Amino acid sequence: MSELRRDTLTGRWNIINTDDPLGPEAFDRESHRIVGSKCPFCPAQEQFTPPEIYAIRPTPNAANKPDWLLRVIPNKFPALKIEGDLNRRGMGIFDLCHGVGAHEVIIETPDHGRQMANFNSEEIARVLIAFKLRLLDLRGDRRLKYSLIFKNFGLSAGASLEHAHSQLIALPIIPKRVQEELHGAERYFEFRERCAFCDMLHQELQESERLVAENRLFVAYCPFVSSFPFEVWILPREHHSDFAQITNEEIEDFGRLLVETLGRLHRALFNPSYNFIIHTIPMERRDHEEYHWHLELIPKLTKVAGFEWGTGFYINPTPPELAAQVLRNVSGSPIPCVGESKTAESKKGMVESAIQPSNSLPRQAQQEGGS
Ligand SMILES: [Zn+2]
Ligand SMILES: [Zn+2]
Ligand SMILES: [Zn+2]
Repeated sequence: MSELRRDTLTGRWNIINTDDPLGPEAFDRESHRIVGSKCPFCPAQEQFTPPEIYAIRPTPNAANKPDWLLRVIPNKFPALKIEGDLNRRGMGIFDLCHGVGAHEVIIETPDHGRQMANFNSEEIARVLIAFKLRLLDLRGDRRLKYSLIFKNFGLSAGASLEHAHSQLIALPIIPKRVQEELHGAERYFEFRERCAFCDMLHQELQESERLVAENRLFVAYCPFVSSFPFEVWILPREHHSDFAQITNEEIEDFGRLLVETLGRLHRALFNPSYNFIIHTIPMERRDHEEYHWHLELIPKLTKVAGFEWGTGFYINPTPPELAAQVLRNVSGSPIPCVGESKTAESKKGMVESAIQPSNSLPRQAQQEGGS
C-alpha cells in the first residue's frame, strides 16, 4: 500500500509510493555537455550584460572589467523591474499592480567549466556572501516584501545558460508558498510554543533514517513529506529565522554541506538537473521566532502533471527513507571538474575582499533615491 503523508506546516498531503519505490536507476539521465561558445557570463564579455550591481574582484574599483571572481548583474530579461511605483489597485473583483521588483543574476565563477558541485570552500563562500549582501541591500527598498534566492541547474530545471549562476527575485508581495509555511509555523508556535522546524529537525536527528549528511552547524535530510524524489532540505541546527544574518562561521559549514549534498546527488543520480531555493523570513520581519530559514533542493527527475495540477498533491515515487539511504551510500566529496583549470587555484584567499561591495551600484543607488 502507498502512503498519504500530511505536511505539519502547510497541511498539504502527498502520495508516497512505499509499495514499489523507484530507485536512482529508474529516472532518465540528462547530459550536461559544456559547449561554452559566446557565453555572456564569461570574463571579457561584460559588455553583453547590464552593468554590475556587485562584484568580488582583487582590485575593487574596476567595475565591469574582466578580473572578477563573482559578479551580480540585473537580469537582461527581467521578470520584474526596479523602477517605478507599485500603483496597487482594484479592477472589479481583481487586484493588480505594476511589475515592480528586482531580478538579479549571480554569476558564481569566472570559470565557464566549473559548477557548484565542483566548488571549493572559497568559491561557495563567495556565492553565499553575495546572497547575503544582496538580501540585505534590497531590504532598504520599502516597496519590496520578499526576496527569493534560487538556482536552476540544467536545461530541464529551467537554466538557459550553462555558465554557473543563481538568481534573486525580489517581490512586492509575500508569495503564497512562503505565506503557507509562515502561517503554519505561527499556528504551531501558538499551540506548542516551539519552532516547528526545530521540532522537525530534532525528530529527523533522532530517527536518522532520512538523514543525508550533517556537520557542526547544519543538517541535510530528505523530508518525511517530500513532494519529489530525492528532495533534500538543509537547515541550520540552531534556530535562525533569517538567512541574511548568517555569520562567516555558518557560511563555511553551510557551504560545505551544500557542495557535499550536490556531490551526493551528482553521484547517485548521474549529474541530474536541479533547482534549489532558500526560504527565509519576509523583508520587514527582522526577527521571527516561529520561522526557521532553510534550503530546499530538488533534482529534476519527474514532471508535474494533471493530478498535481488539479489537486496540489504530489505523487512521489521514491520514499524519502530510500532516497536518504541512497544519498548516504555515495561519496560526498566535491565532484572533480572536467578539464580542471588553474584559475580557481590561483584565486584562493579572495573571500575576505568579498565582504566589501564594489563601488559600482548604479541601479541600487537610483533605487534608494527613488523609494
Ligand atoms: Zn561562460
Ligand atoms: Zn527553529
Ligand atoms: Zn520552505
